[in-house]
Amino acid sequence: MIIHNFNAGPSILPKEVIIKSAQSVIDFNGSGLSLLEISHRSIDFLEIIEKTTCLVKRVMNLNDDYAILFLQGGATLQFSMVPYNLMDKEAAYLDTGFWSINAIKEAKKFGKVNILFSGKENQYTYILKNYKIPHNVDYFHCTSNNTIVGTQMKIFPKTSVPIICDMSSDIFSRKLNFYQFSLIYASAQKNVSSAGMTIVIIKKNILKTTKKNIPSYMDYQIHIQNKSILNTPNVFSIYTSMLTLEWIENKGGLSILEKENKNKAKLLYDEIDKNSLFENKIHKEDRSNMNVSFFLKEKKLEKEFNKMWKKENIIGLDGHRFFGGYRASIYNALPLKSVQFLIEIMKEFERKFSS
Ligand code: PMP
Repeated sequence: MIIHNFNAGPSILPKEVIIKSAQSVIDFNGSGLSLLEISHRSIDFLEIIEKTTCLVKRVMNLNDDYAILFLQGGATLQFSMVPYNLMDKEAAYLDTGFWSINAIKEAKKFGKVNILFSGKENQYTYILKNYKIPHNVDYFHCTSNNTIVGTQMKIFPKTSVPIICDMSSDIFSRKLNFYQFSLIYASAQKNVSSAGMTIVIIKKNILKTTKKNIPSYMDYQIHIQNKSILNTPNVFSIYTSMLTLEWIENKGGLSILEKENKNKAKLLYDEIDKNSLFENKIHKEDRSNMNVSFFLKEKKLEKEFNKMWKKENIIGLDGHRFFGGYRASIYNALPLKSVQFLIEIMKEFERKFSS
C-alpha cells in the first residue's frame, strides 16, 4: 500500500535509509549486537561520528574552520544555547513566525533583542529583504524556513556580523554558500533523521572566551572538545543521519535535491494558483519549497475535501493548529509521484465541487 506522507515533522525519510537503519537495530554491521546495544565510545561508533561529520562538511562544501556537533534538546535548546554562548549585550533577530518568536523569547533572557523585522502584521505571509543590521550587535539570527506558515528566505543579508540560522526545516534541501553563516542549527526530524538530535554547524573562531559561567551541556566549546560525546548521544539518530547523508551524496548532492525540490514545489503552487477552490496566502517570492500551505476559499467545503484526501492514503495534510488550512510538507524524501497524486486529488475536487 502506498502512503503519501506529507507530515511536517517527524516526516518522510528515504525508504532505503529506513530499511538500513532498521537492519542496524537488529544486527549492527554483522556484530551480532543491535546498534542500540553498542557503546557510544566504541571504535565502531566513533567511526560513525567521524564519517557523519565528514559527510556534513562534504555535502555542504565546508572546510575545517567549522565544527559539526550532534546534540540533544532539539532546535529548542539552541534558542538558549546561541545567546548563552554568543550574546554579550545585544543581538538582532528577524521575527518570521512561530519558531523565531520562540528563539526571540529565549534570547531576551540573555540580553537586548533588536527585532529588525516582524511579519506579525501581515500574518507572516512575507519576509522583508531590505532591513539594516546594526554593526554593534553580537550576531544576527534568522529562520531560513518557516515550517508553519510556509515561507522561506531565498536571500540572506550581506553583513560583517555573524549570521546564525535555524535551518530545522530546510537543511540539506538546497545549495547555498554555507560560509556566509557562522552557526547553523537544525533539529533532525525533517530532512535528516529521527527526532532527538540536533546538528550544529559552527565556525570555531566565533567562540570567544566568554566571561559567563556556562553550564557544561550548554557550552559549544566543551562539545567541540568532546566531539559530541560529552554525554551519551543519540546513537540511533546520528547513525540514521549518516545514512541520509550517504543517500544525498549518492543522488548527486544538494544541487540535484534543490532542482527536485523546486520542481515539486512549483507543480503544487501552480495547481493551487490555477484551482478555483484553493488559495495560497504567501507572497510569491517568499513561498517555501519545503512546506506548501494552502486554504480552501470556501470553508464549507472542508468536510468534503478532508473526506476525499483521507480516503486516498494521504497523510499529514492538516495545517498547523495555529495557522489552519492545509500544509503539504514536501521534504527531500517525498517522491514527485506523491505531489502529482495530491494535485490529481485537488483537480478532481475542483471538477466535483466548483460551481
Ligand atoms: N525551528 C523550526 C524552524 C522548526 O520547524 C522546529 C520544529 N518543527 C523547531 C525549531 C523546534 O524543533 P524541536 O522540536 O526539535 O526543538
